[in-house]
Amino acid sequence: MKRDRYELSKEEMPDRWYNILPDLPNPLPPPKDPESGPSRMDRLPDVFSKGVLEHEMCKERYVEIPKEVRELYLQSGRPRPLIRARGLEKKLNTPAKLYYKSEFYSPTGSHKVNTAIPQAYFAKQQGIERMTTETGAGQWGTALAYACSLVGIDLTVYWVRAASSWKLGRRNFMQLYGAEVHDSPSPHTDIGKKMLEDDPEHEGSLNIAISEALEDAASNDNTVYGLGSVLNHVLLHQTVIGLETKKQFEVAEEYPDTVISCLGGGSNFGGLAIPFAADRIKNGHDTKFIAAQSQAAPNLEGTYEYDFGDYAEQTPLLKMYTLGHQCAMPSIKADGLRYHAAAPIISALKHEGLVDTIIYPEDEEYVFKRAKMFVQTEGFLPAPESAYSIAAAIDEARECKRKKEEKTIVFNVSGHGFMDMSGYREKLSLG
Ligand SMILES: *Cc1c(COP(=O)(O)O)cnc(C)c1O
Repeated sequence: MKRDRYELSKEEMPDRWYNILPDLPNPLPPPKDPESGPSRMDRLPDVFSKGVLEHEMCKERYVEIPKEVRELYLQSGRPRPLIRARGLEKKLNTPAKLYYKSEFYSPTGSHKVNTAIPQAYFAKQQGIERMTTETGAGQWGTALAYACSLVGIDLTVYWVRAASSWKLGRRNFMQLYGAEVHDSPSPHTDIGKKMLEDDPEHEGSLNIAISEALEDAASNDNTVYGLGSVLNHVLLHQTVIGLETKKQFEVAEEYPDTVISCLGGGSNFGGLAIPFAADRIKNGHDTKFIAAQSQAAPNLEGTYEYDFGDYAEQTPLLKMYTLGHQCAMPSIKADGLRYHAAAPIISALKHEGLVDTIIYPEDEEYVFKRAKMFVQTEGFLPAPESAYSIAAAIDEARECKRKKEEKTIVFNVSGHGFMDMSGYREKLSLG
């Protein structure tokens, strides 16, 4: 019988994360301080927990997943199935074999719980009482609110006003977990006050919200900051996605020719792709990696240079493909893809020629139509960000049909869209 779902048992869940740093063809350019102003590097221990900083600087190839984190992963529904998209294949009449990883089976709606859980756990372990963070689309804020609630610490979320203004349900979801939610820019920080003076209706951006959350964490005791993407420790935690997927492909007796996901800061793309990228670097597999982006924030098409991670220049400089840390990016429904730069690790892989990009128009009609095709053939409602991943997989499958190629394609569906129906309504003109 043809199998459609590849599930792993509890025991088969990975017990360590994979760190690609020792396997990169060239050393990752380290973070550094700008030439003038106070040291941002020296301030890192004030804003991050010890466990997180250790992971950020880690040089080991494998990092054990603490037992308590493994238990929380199980509670959050890991391992997640790998699903053969037979309905979509049939609809496209493609010779390609399509598989998707189901990160949408997440209690809060996205893959972001994979790093929220260890971040909250390390903070708690160190006796921290409160975390601060920013959120764009709202998925990261919800994931960290969930994790903080499970381990028993408080959370303050600075939420980009462009998204918070139309996503009431998400605000309530975060509040249900006990989080305090401020629209960003907010009157609660100096940087927020300054932006509001210039424009009381300022719609905010992810890098402004990061500045607010960092300022809050740095100026309060017993408080650490959590970041949902971009940094090495986040990508390390997210490799649980790709490590599971590799095991699932072993069971399926297949190996992907093409690995696809959407890319904002790079955490879900990296989570899926990094374990396969290691095979390409070390074992000569010729797997292709495609990052799907929005024209609103095509950061991988930017310049590869040292840039700040936030608007107010509080972070160290990171070597990344960037559009510039103060660049204006139009608001889109897939707000989680709207960040000015791509993770240093993904940027390095791109620089080595390992990552291709596909960029979809910022009106988003194209991707929402393909998300609808996925809904009608596979039955799951994807997050707007995941619609980009689905669109890229569909485009590749159509290319396979044209060239009569029987490729194996895997794509990540990073989240569900249950809280994004107004995006669907607007983009697909639903009544
Ligand atoms: C945040 C988010 C993204 C984009 O962030 P990455 O770090 O690039 O993964 C994509 N999909 C969903 C569902 C998200 O919540």
